[in-house]
Amino acid sequence: MKEDYYDILGISKGATEAEIKKAYRKMALKYHPDKNPDDTSAEEKFKKAAEAYEVLSNADKKARYDQFGHQAFDGSGGGGFGGGGMNMDDIFSQFGDIFGGGGFGGGGGFSGFGGGGRQRVVKGSNLRIRVTLSLEDVANGVEKKIKVKRKIQAPGTTYKTCSTCNGAGQVTRVTNTILGRMQTAAACPTCGGAGQTIDKKPADADAHGLKVSDETVTVKIPAGVVDGMQLKVTGKGNDAPGNGVAGDLLVAIQEEEHATLKREGDNLHYDMYVSLPDAVLGNSKEIDTVTGKVRIKIEPGVQSGKILRLRGKGIPSINGYGKGDLLVHVNVWTPKTLSKKQKTFFESMKEDEHFEPKPESSDKSFFEKVKDMFS
Ligand SMILES: [Zn+2]
Repeated sequence: MKEDYYDILGISKGATEAEIKKAYRKMALKYHPDKNPDDTSAEEKFKKAAEAYEVLSNADKKARYDQFGHQAFDGSGGGGFGGGGMNMDDIFSQFGDIFGGGGFGGGGGFSGFGGGGRQRVVKGSNLRIRVTLSLEDVANGVEKKIKVKRKIQAPGTTYKTCSTCNGAGQVTRVTNTILGRMQTAAACPTCGGAGQTIDKKPADADAHGLKVSDETVTVKIPAGVVDGMQLKVTGKGNDAPGNGVAGDLLVAIQEEEHATLKREGDNLHYDMYVSLPDAVLGNSKEIDTVTGKVRIKIEPGVQSGKILRLRGKGIPSINGYGKGDLLVHVNVWTPKTLSKKQKTFFESMKEDEHFEPKPESSDKSFFEKVKDMFS
């Protein structure tokens, strides 16, 4: 069982934003690795507190956690947040927010990457959206225009080199250990490692110099996508401040149920109902496919349960290797009510030997045919 985030920070569920921040500040100072060298249990507590704070300090994530608990952050499918599993770099970048400074690493929904002591590239947060596709869209591929509200750098915002680290993104810490003084590099607490802070920003920009903008993003959806699949549109998430790179737009695929066609992998199934006269005499019938209607032939004497295979009329493989088939299942439809005349008609055939089912002669299986050949 994963420990409760509120328990980790020693606060109640109703804690205010300020109380959450205060509790984390206390924990972070107490268990900071600089204060507890070589103490793995302190480091563990330090990491846990950072993870708890990362979730509880973000309104969206907190709401999800309050509703679903740790499950809100499990799995990689659509909708989940990347909670948990923070590394030390992420944690130190969070400090820009907590311990003052106008920095923007970590904190407000930005996640850093790169790192490793070098200057960090700040990445804007990802946006998630769900699109519903018809089976025809899935089969043929489609271009969707999606309206998104993404944060962009507000016009007029300027950034300057961080004065704490002179743009290097890292500072040198000196730690006293039993082996003597040790120098270690850490992300700059002022800018979070980005090397930049805000110089000027317009009134409508947020603390990071960003503002929300309504945009339409064109997403090319290839044929063969599967329900639950997530497509990434690079750079169409929220902008990052300064020289950072924008996050991604993550598009989760939701497949609409088709009125008559059922999908099974790349194959499609269609239930075709055939009247008694058509089954006996033969006919042709129009059926649905993902590329429009097609007319197929009903052979005289067709049996219920027969499967007609239309090769290549299924869904293209997402990997680009061929297409599935459309399997048409024949169902002979038997009327439930009859007029007097119809009843007389069927009764007149009741005694006729010809209408007795003879499955062995009409539809022998392959093995039975082989057996016949050798007997
Ligand atoms: Zn800095």
